[in-house]
Amino acid sequence: MQVIWREETIPIDFSFMEAVNAQSGQQIQLCYHCHKCGAGCPVVSFMDYTPDKLFRMAQLGLKRQVLSSSTIWLCAACHTCAARCPNDIDVTKVMDSLKEMAQKEKIKASRRIAPLFHRAFLSNLRRFGQIHEASLMAVLKLKTFSFFRDVMLGLKMFRKGKIVLLPKRTKGRKQIRKLFKEIRRRAEIPAESQ
Ligand code: SF4
Ligand code: SF4
Repeated sequence: MQVIWREETIPIDFSFMEAVNAQSGQQIQLCYHCHKCGAGCPVVSFMDYTPDKLFRMAQLGLKRQVLSSSTIWLCAACHTCAARCPNDIDVTKVMDSLKEMAQKEKIKASRRIAPLFHRAFLSNLRRFGQIHEASLMAVLKLKTFSFFRDVMLGLKMFRKGKIVLLPKRTKGRKQIRKLFKEIRRRAEIPAESQ
């Protein structure tokens, strides 16, 4: 059996779906594409494929297309999809596993900004124990050379007190660092990718 993907004919290969299931502990073949996950996802409009479309691609074995998708990096891990799925598929866990697989296989994302944001977000969280938006934005601007993009929006947020210049000290900062260390040890993720 074959699947036609954008004028390319690709043989259907279930081994990728099995690998995703093994990594995430989920059964993505149970997905019957009711679209409930995508309908509730707060960032779906920024994704290149909706979560259920990505699952269909994974079911068909479109490994490269799935692992290079910006969808997996834009997922904010809010768990809305997992709560809505009638088949009890923890979509969030699958997204996390896909990120790990993409990192391990060194597959580049279709939009460079997506994994950059993900890594900057995690590194900010590890450093301050909570997200400090001002430094997160500064790091992203430096990495993407987009210094003037969204400046007006940033100013508006600053005026409303949504962005503070200095980070607050978080009580559980040490524990959060320990958590990061442990996750990295278990997943064998090199320090520079977090
Ligand atoms: S809610 Fe569940 S079954 Fe429905 S499309 Fe999403 S993953 Fe598939
Ligand atoms: S966990 Fe990710 S995919 Fe699921 S609803 Fe939230 S952002 Fe969307």
